[in-house]
Order: sequence, then structure tokens, then C-alpha cells
Amino acid sequence: MFAVRSLLPGLLLALPSVAMAQRVPVPDADPRIQKLVASVSEQRLRDLNVKLASFATRSTLSDATSTTRGIGAARQWMLEELKRSSPRLQVSFDTHRIAPQGRITREVELRNVMAVLPGKSPRRVYITGHYDTVNLGGGGQLALNAGAGANPQASREFNHDVDAPGANDDGSGTVLTMELARVFAESGIEFDATLVFMCWAGEEQGLIGSTAHAQQLAADQVVVEANFNNDIIGNIQGGGGLIDGESVRVYSLGPEDSMNRALARYIQRVAATYVPSHGIRLMAREDRFGRGSDHSSFTSFGFPAVVFREANENYSRQHTANDTVGGVNFAYLAQNTRVNAAGAASVALAPPAPKVTGPAGQALVSRNPSGYDATLQWAPSPGAAGYRIYWRDTWNNSWERSQVVGNVTQFTLAGLSIDDWVFGVAAIGADGAESLVSAYVSPTRRVNEVKLVK
Ligand SMILES: [Zn+2]
Repeated sequence: MFAVRSLLPGLLLALPSVAMAQRVPVPDADPRIQKLVASVSEQRLRDLNVKLASFATRSTLSDATSTTRGIGAARQWMLEELKRSSPRLQVSFDTHRIAPQGRITREVELRNVMAVLPGKSPRRVYITGHYDTVNLGGGGQLALNAGAGANPQASREFNHDVDAPGANDDGSGTVLTMELARVFAESGIEFDATLVFMCWAGEEQGLIGSTAHAQQLAADQVVVEANFNNDIIGNIQGGGGLIDGESVRVYSLGPEDSMNRALARYIQRVAATYVPSHGIRLMAREDRFGRGSDHSSFTSFGFPAVVFREANENYSRQHTANDTVGGVNFAYLAQNTRVNAAGAASVALAPPAPKVTGPAGQALVSRNPSGYDATLQWAPSPGAAGYRIYWRDTWNNSWERSQVVGNVTQFTLAGLSIDDWVFGVAAIGADGAESLVSAYVSPTRRVNEVKLVK
């Protein structure tokens, strides 16, 4: 006892300097990601877009034999351009033979264009856009919007070989994906997750290329951490007269604590750190009203996904011969590309999001130990050096409070009611990279039909 006391003054003297050394603040911004974001080239986005539009049409059903016009020439150039952009990329066609169905009017060999940057782990982070185009004739999407309710058949493509340059829909998302393939591969960063840069075909016929790919992923039990899908993200002049080059919409399928929503919130938080001048408008719905894109092929198979959409669209250009390079603002497209870069790099550097459910799918949250506390449990995430727990009021859509809790897999918030708060947990890697937040979700209660005596 005396011996312990005699040691204390020395310990107390030593403590302040140790504490000071440990309290050097770690910046939220990772210098590797800052450098990666800064290396996005507006000029290359423009050059790629001009070349892409020069193939005149990229309709999935257009002539694929020409070397200068149509989808065959376009995809061959994309493949070669991706190969040229970095030797670290594994570039290939993801080919599917599609039977006639819906708006696919004949059997067609569909080729998605894929570039893979292998990570330490096989789990995948996707950045995607569709490179196919369509010309609906007769006023394009504007006419379709006006008549969609009355005549859904108006969406039929009338001629596959007329001009459909698709500079914005979705040349913008395509060149964003191609530029980020270069930027990520040339960064020299060793990512934990494997990055897949994918340009889809068959989107305009009903998400055909992305669905064929996603159903194969599900069959192969591939783990997909996130899909950053981009479709129509380069125009700043809305057809309704509004101009906005300073924000982007991010749509995500609910419910409110789906991993799609977790990805959307994550993008908003990361963008504030790395692209602070760009606004992220989170949209709590799957997509714009009655319209869709390839993220839905991923969410349909349970893979987290969002879609980026420009702030104000011009429907009179979409799905016409007027969707030309002149309708794309490359400074704006570059900002959207930087947001994708920051988000995907952050997810790919971080450990996987923690699993917060048990074998029966039940949320691992309890009222222990007092019966009135919140005790959270989770499975350890490979590579995690610690965890951050989050909570918020049940009526709020964004996390309000958080706390780093060290390298543990259980934590108690004394006196907080699990009935009145939503809780989540994220994994943090040794370099500070943080995963998506996995939320503890109360299951929906269903009743069985009551049997009555007849
Ligand atoms: Zn599109």
C-alpha cells in the first residue's frame, strides 16, 4: 500500500507528456484521397466524351460491325482506352447473350465494358454508368414524360441506327467511370476492396446488362460493399430554366436504414471533407418519378447502391439526336467525378461494415445490463482497429451523435432506451478509414390471420 503511494507522484508527473503525445489530432482528410481527388482531369473527361459521342449511336441494337459507327466500334475503343490508361487495370468485356424479351427485339450479344483494380480483399466496390444510348424520336424524353401515363409504348425505340450521341445520357456517367479507372489505378494506393469500373449496355432496354451481371454476382456469392451508379450527371441548365452547377442529387432506395441509405449518408459526409464546394442533395427515394437506372439491378439482388443525378435535367435533349457534347458542362462533371472518387476511395480503404445481426437475422441490440440501457453488439470486421457507434432520434434521417469506442465488439450506452433511438456502428481501419454504418433495425411485425370457428 505504501509502496503504491510512493510511486504515484512519479506517475502523475509522467502522465501529462504521454497524454499530450497521444492527443495530436488526426485529420479527417486522408492525404492519399486528397491527392486522388485532385488528380481528376476535366480535360480528359471532355476528350473521352467527345470521342464517345463521335460514334454517333451506341444503341445496344445498333450495327456492331462497323469500326467507326455504332456500339461495336464504341465498346472496342472503350476497351482499348481503358487498357491504355493503366497497366494495373484488368480490362475485359463482360459478355452476355440476351434472348429477345421486352424491348430487346432480337437476340443480341451484349457486352458491358469492365475494368478491375484488384484490392487486398475480393469484396467489391463498383463505380458505374451506362454507355448505351437511345433515340426515341418525336421529342425524346420530353414527349415521353408528357404522354407516359397514357401511352407507355411511346418508349419504343423506333430505329436503332439513327443518331443517338448520348453525350450526357449517359456519356457523362461513362466517362466519369473511365476517368476514375485511370485515377484509381494510377494513384498507387493499395485499396482493401477490389474496385470495379463498369460501363453497362442495355440500360435503355430495361437495365439488361447490369441485371445480367448482378444476377451472376448473386449466383457466385460475390460480396459487394457499394455501387456508385451515375446516370445523367453533366448538364447544369435545366429545361425548366433553373441553372445549378454546384450540387448533385443522390437517390437511394429505402427503408430508412437500408444499406443504400447508409451509402447515401456516407457520400454526403465524405464529400463535405474532400469536395466541400459541392452540395450533396440526398433524395429519400429509389430514383426520379417513374424513371430508373442500373443501381436498381444491384438493390434487387441485395447489393447496396445509389444513383447520382444532375441537379436540373433538360428532358428535351434526353433520348434525342440533340444529346450532344455542347449540353455537357465539364467543370460540373469533374466535380461529380471528384465526389465519386472521394466516396469510393473511402469505402474501399475502410474495413467492411460490421455485421450487426445474429444467425436468425435478429438485431444484436439489447436492454442489458439494467433492463433500461442500450447494449450494442457486432461481429468483428476484418482489418478493423476500432469502431464508431452512432445514434439518432427515430424521427431523424441523419445520424446525430457518435462516439469512437475502441477495438471492442460490444458497447453499452447507459440509460438510453433502444425503443427511442436508432443505433448504428461503423468499423475504422488502422489508417482511420471508416466503413459504412450498419444500423440496428427493428423487424417489421406481421400478424397471422386468426382462425375463426365456423
Ligand atoms: Zn441513362
